[in-house]
Amino acid sequence: MLTSRGQQHTLQNTVKIEGRGLHSGALVSVTVKPGPPDSGFIFGRRDLPGGPSFKASPEKVIETNRATKLGEGNCRIGTVEHFLAAAAVLGLDNLKIETDGPEMPILDGSAQPIFSELKKGGIKKQEAPRIYRKIEEVSFVREGLASLIALPWDGFRVTCVFIAPPPIGRQVIDLEKDWEDLLPARTFGWAEEARVLREKGLAKGGGTDCALIFNPGEDSPPYRVSDEPVSHKVLDLLGDLALYRPVLGHIIAVRAGHKLHNQLARKLQTEEA
Ligand SMILES: [Zn+2]
Repeated sequence: MLTSRGQQHTLQNTVKIEGRGLHSGALVSVTVKPGPPDSGFIFGRRDLPGGPSFKASPEKVIETNRATKLGEGNCRIGTVEHFLAAAAVLGLDNLKIETDGPEMPILDGSAQPIFSELKKGGIKKQEAPRIYRKIEEVSFVREGLASLIALPWDGFRVTCVFIAPPPIGRQVIDLEKDWEDLLPARTFGWAEEARVLREKGLAKGGGTDCALIFNPGEDSPPYRVSDEPVSHKVLDLLGDLALYRPVLGHIIAVRAGHKLHNQLARKLQTEEA
């Protein structure tokens, strides 16, 4: 069921975020403007003829391979999840996001720089109630060894289990507050994957300055936050679920990624009716 709690929020002032796209390596400039109540996150491309835009929602996800890409017609924007995670942690509901390129900047691979820029714009309370999806029945999606489960809970709680070969190993996190502590957790991957991506002409803007790169048989690179990989998985989950609406429930993620995050968001939306 849907229930209201508190009020909606937007930015006080427009902010600008600039950096390189992870795949294209091209500089992209993002303008984030306040949005009216109940407008949600409107993404647009000012580099395309007519400046097309669309309202973000789980159905607008067109790709979930390593990052979340949104699109409607020719208006496509990749790697939106860290931006959405930062907006979710700040409690923002309504924003107009305009880019001049096909992907959001990767920056340092975390949500921290985006959070800092958004915060500079100031947070404005709006005259409209914030509508939450209250989980009343167990709902889940799964694929192979990965599962994503939504359970009833009074509040918002995430338990995330991530298992990978050493040096990452088994990492578990269980959070109900202090979401800001997750923000510095960077995107991560294996050195071999990064090499293959670059050979395909992807990840041109990627490197050890915007990702935590692991090598099998070697020690972990220094972490910024404890259990940085699983902390980043939670950020991705927060961003992907923000395409739906705020949730009151306990989300349990076991080896889940963007694809399952989106499947759960779509399922919760369908079950709303
Ligand atoms: Zn991520």
